[in-house]
Amino acid sequence: MTIADVQAPVRFPEFDPERQYGMIIAGQSVQAETGNTFRCYDPFEEAEWGYVPDASAADVDRAVAAAQAAQPAWAATPPARRLALFQRWAALVREHVPELARTMVHENGKTITEMTMAMAATPNTIEFCGHYATVIHGDTITPQMPEHSAWTTRVPVGVVAAITPWNNPIGLLAWKLFPALAAGNTVIVKPSEVTPVSTIRLVELALEAGFPPGVVSVITGAGLAGAALVDHPGVDKVAFTGSTATGKRIGQSTGGRLVRTTLELGGKGPNIVFPDANLDKAIQGLVTGLTAGTGQACNAGSRIIVHEDIKDEVVARLIDALAHLVIGDPLDPDTDIGPIASRAQYAKVSSYLDIAESEATTTFVTGARRAKQIPGIEHGLFIEPTVYETPDPRSRVRCEEIFGPIGALITFRTEDEAIQIANDTEYGLVGGLWTTDINRARRVATKLDVGVAWINTWRAFSGNVPFGGRKSSGVGHEMGIDIFEEYTEVKAYWLGPDDS
Ligand code: ADP
Repeated sequence: MTIADVQAPVRFPEFDPERQYGMIIAGQSVQAETGNTFRCYDPFEEAEWGYVPDASAADVDRAVAAAQAAQPAWAATPPARRLALFQRWAALVREHVPELARTMVHENGKTITEMTMAMAATPNTIEFCGHYATVIHGDTITPQMPEHSAWTTRVPVGVVAAITPWNNPIGLLAWKLFPALAAGNTVIVKPSEVTPVSTIRLVELALEAGFPPGVVSVITGAGLAGAALVDHPGVDKVAFTGSTATGKRIGQSTGGRLVRTTLELGGKGPNIVFPDANLDKAIQGLVTGLTAGTGQACNAGSRIIVHEDIKDEVVARLIDALAHLVIGDPLDPDTDIGPIASRAQYAKVSSYLDIAESEATTTFVTGARRAKQIPGIEHGLFIEPTVYETPDPRSRVRCEEIFGPIGALITFRTEDEAIQIANDTEYGLVGGLWTTDINRARRVATKLDVGVAWINTWRAFSGNVPFGGRKSSGVGHEMGIDIFEEYTEVKAYWLGPDDS
């Protein structure tokens, strides 16, 4: 018997490790037509739990048919009725925040603190989006030929496929699913195979709230199920968050068929510290950028770009701050760093410790212990927050998205050099800088080639502020009031002169 065997039922008494979950098609909990299943995995326990249907193209066909059948009636549902359903759903989710947060911890090992915060925001997002159903409107326009009349309406896109990753399963689904539904679309969600159960539960609560069958469905499975959904001719829009490699593959498929697509992909965020920065705050920002979500975040600040005059002080203070972080049980509210989410991701992140060692110019700064090498750790897929100094612009540690708590430290001499280093990446999602000079703040932030620029802060989010990337970090954005434009088509009408 292993530690995991002993601990799993004690830590999560509400989860039966042998339970068979169902995906949701046409309002029903169903198994895959093939009967195939896969298992969830708790990366702290290092134990498998649950059985989840492994969908094939036949299951995707069923889900798309149900979504197509439900869409016209859903779009025609009176706005106040749609809002009432959203409000009921939000109330149910609010009641289930602890359960959903614990589910995600069980799935991906993120800390209970982070997952509770993500879940607590979700009912607000449901309500915010639900209100959109009551204010969708077009414009009347005076055209160049004033004897004509012209007006527009906003119509739903149709059937939306929402494909999500494992690092924040419900937080990253929220800004696809809720605006899409509010705008009158029907939605098929394909959660990551690492984190399927939290999404199933969220959608079960939608059914409990009274959403009609087929309006929102869940297909579970891995890349094959995702690809079957993306390639399905009945899907009118794909909203995806995940890796750049998968995003490019999806873009090739949807681009070839002219299917609308939003892609939120990888990042290699530059976090720049100028000599005039408030170093107390900057160090906190560097720690957050490196370690939030155990570095498994597209918005990680994984390139620490520091002026050479303050490098020694920043390094000393960073090492000290990292040493004070609590690594351990993600269910403990005092834990700062949980395990890496899955065996595959652990293997990938670990490989960068080896890559760093093999790179001639990359030098060790701090961290780099894994699993039981970390004092106090007896089990779990842990990797310590780690920093390497990477003067070589081609260093893989410096260039590639690692998606773990590993940072590249780079020094600069001039402001222009800092900007050049920050932009010298295929990615362009988030970036930040620390300075007390307001003019420098505006100047540098303007020149960062990113979708989100943080000045004297890191990881600031608000539902009404857009989030999205440039270059290989994606296409389109999520959040923000104009998110609904991503889920509606504008349709123009003309009325000729009055001949009566
Ligand atoms: P990761 O490798 O970190 O899990 P991915 O980008 O592969 O990141 O996964 C993000 C989501 O995309 C998951 O839900 C995954 O199952 C799904 N996915 C993977 N491959 C494909 C594909 N070819 N087409 C559509 N979805 C896919």
